[in-house]
Formats: sequence, C-alpha cells, structure tokens
Amino acid sequence: MDRLKGKVALISGGARGQGSAEAKLFSAEGANVMVGDILDIEGKETVDRINDARESAKYVHLDVTSKDDWDSAVIETVRSFGKIDILVNNAGITLIRTVEETTVEEWDKVNEINSKGVFLGVKCCIPAMLDSGGGSIINISSIAGLIGMGNIAAYSASKGAVRLLTKSTAVQYGPKGIRCNSIHPGVIDTEMTRESMSDELKRQNVLDRTPLGTLGTVNDIALAALYLASDESRYVTGTELVVDGGTTAK
Ligand code: NAD
Repeated sequence: MDRLKGKVALISGGARGQGSAEAKLFSAEGANVMVGDILDIEGKETVDRINDARESAKYVHLDVTSKDDWDSAVIETVRSFGKIDILVNNAGITLIRTVEETTVEEWDKVNEINSKGVFLGVKCCIPAMLDSGGGSIINISSIAGLIGMGNIAAYSASKGAVRLLTKSTAVQYGPKGIRCNSIHPGVIDTEMTRESMSDELKRQNVLDRTPLGTLGTVNDIALAALYLASDESRYVTGTELVVDGGTTAK
C-alpha cells in the first residue's frame, strides 16, 4: 500500500488509458499525483475519482509539445506538492501508415508528440528533480521502438527515439541521482487500439503473435511503472522493461 509513500509524480497523458491507471495506482500506493493532458474534462474526472478514494491528485492542462505548458506543469506540481520525484512520459498518439503512405505533416505530428514531447518532459522536470535530490523518469515507448513492425513507420521511429533518449538521460543523470527507464508495452486494450482490435481478423493476428494469448491491460503497464517509480528499482536505470505477453521473445 505504501510503495510510493511521500513521493510526488507528474504523469503526462494521464486523463485516460494507461496514464490514468498509473495515476490511480500511484495514489493508492501513497503518492501525490499531478495529471496532465489535453483532454481537460476526462483529466478532471480522473482526478475526481482518485480524490474520492484519497485526496492526493490535481489536474493541469498539458500539451506535451509545448515547452510553456511543461514549465507551467512543473511549477504547478511543485507549488501544489512541494517537489517532483517521478515523471511518467506517457502521452502519445499512434498512426497506422507505411513509409509511403505517411505524409510529412503526419510524420511531424507523431514525432512532435511522441518524441519531442518526451524530450521536453525530461528537460523541464530535471531541474526540479535535482532540487529534491534525484528522481525516477519513466518513458513509455513500445515494442514498436524495439523491433520493426509493418505499417507504423512514424510511430516506430518516434518510439525508437524515446528508447535511446532514455538511455542517454540515464547515463548523464545517474551520477546526480536521477534514474531513467523505458517501458515497452505490447498491444494493450485502450482507446488507442480499440478500433483496430474490433476487427476480428486483426485481433486474432495479434493474439497469435502473443505467447500469453491475451491483450495486455492498463494495469499490467501501471504495475511495471510502479516498480520503476519506487525505490525497489533503486539500482535499475537505462533499462527497457518489455511488457508484451512474450510477443518480442519470438
Ligand atoms: P490512449 O489513447 O488511451 O491515451 C493516450 C493519452 O495521451 C490520452 O489521454 C491523450 O489525450 C494523451 N495525449 C495525446 N496527445 C497529447 C498531447 N499532445 N499532450 C498531452 N497529452 C496527449 O492510449 P494508451 O494506450 O493509454 O497510450 C499511452 C502510451 O502507451 C502512449 O505513449 C502509447 O504510444 C503507448 N503504447 C500504447 C500501446 C497500446 O497498445 N495501447 C502499446 C505500446 C505503447
């Protein structure tokens, strides 16, 4: 129950899906949580549900592509809760297109949110973490950031960038007490995948590629993030935590 007691977390894309599950679990484990997203109504509802169980969460409007928004989110988190110990760079979008199908505008949009958004989060939160003596940064990549996967060109590139920004940050800031790790989910049942998984053939293809035979849940990822956020992972940095039902083991 107290795995994050006394800690403060900022979670991007925390209004729904995996980010919302992480916010709820982190609060249940004793953390104070700032939820950031562009979905203001859903984000505030998520925070209300968390606060019904324990008064520990706040919402801030945060478009991860905006440095001004990140600066405000950091100020608001420190003003509300005193510090930042944990950053989860979770916000992201997907795009199902081959290289040829992807327009330049689409490439830029996916990489702005998924890659530059993570860079800005790391850049803007590090000073606050240094002020409080260290911290844990968790960047949500994907198995698409590890292996080549058919028709998600821009998404794969953006998630590969997250994987190596994570290692670069781990190397640079380990000596200053900041750990940085990436999580690589397989196919998780959220809004992001719901439409493509409603096609029975596509769903069966995914299940056939997954040794454990089911889609992942938001809680599978939240529990992985909880481990990396907590002091239980105090000697873990720069690693890739794959949570994919065995898909990439094949
Ligand atoms: P989701 O679509 O339910 O949640 C994504 C969240 O990010 C939403 O709340 C959305 O509003 C927010 N977001 C999008 N653009 C934003 C922006 N510019 N600024 C701030 N917030 C923004 O999907 P999810 O599955 O919960 O995705 C969470 C993360 O997991 C993403 O980074 C995604 O790429 C990654 N991921 C998902 C899967 C999967 O199968 N669902 C697999 C691998 C990785």
